[in-house]
Amino acid sequence: MKIDRFTQTPFQQNTRVVSCENTRQAICIDPGEQSSALEDHIRSNGLGLIAIALTHGHLDHVGGTAALHRAFPEAEIIIHEQDEELYFALQKQPLFMGIRPEQLSLLGLDYEAPPRPTRNWQDGEIFEVGDLRFSVRHSPGHTRGHVVLAETAEKVVFVGDCLFENSIGRTDLPGGDHAQLLDSIARNILSLDDDVKVYSGHGPVTTVGRERRHNPFLNGTYQLERGRFI
Ligand SMILES: [Zn+2]
Ligand SMILES: [Zn+2]
Repeated sequence: MKIDRFTQTPFQQNTRVVSCENTRQAICIDPGEQSSALEDHIRSNGLGLIAIALTHGHLDHVGGTAALHRAFPEAEIIIHEQDEELYFALQKQPLFMGIRPEQLSLLGLDYEAPPRPTRNWQDGEIFEVGDLRFSVRHSPGHTRGHVVLAETAEKVVFVGDCLFENSIGRTDLPGGDHAQLLDSIARNILSLDDDVKVYSGHGPVTTVGRERRHNPFLNGTYQLERGRFI
């Protein structure tokens, strides 16, 4: 497995190209924005892009889908059904976040309409990319239709905005739910071995064991009850 990162958008989102070194098949996880560097990387490495794999529907994770699909029209576009509403609202998402219409092009957030997904993730499915086998795990809480992609033989998990080094995803946007997020993290990420590497949508790579021990949201340092810290 080879993993290449492109940090994109004003939100410093980690777009990744993940490829099988035996077959050269590849996926792009969360293309945040149009990127010639990303497209050139796929072409110059002779990779066959089979899918644009979306962890969730937020703009910093899906904003580059239309351009990447135009460059590689044979690639599937896959998102969980429960995040399709967010995905199709891409052009309005900056306004939900308080960004004014006249700021959109300045920030590179004036999106074209996103193309129709070719299919939806199913919880528990095994998604094959060459010799790689990703277990797809529906993980609501940051958004309703968030998924994480675990390749247990390679000891890696791609967690989007569920979990970060020392932090967890925000739950104050539409579809967010703090208790549900903690439950998703426990079931779908902390259930993996300690030495599994965690690739987050923002920030550095960490491990399951490190977050289990040191993440204040997971080790009992912070406990939210009825909206208050206790
Ligand atoms: Zn997000
Ligand atoms: Zn994000």
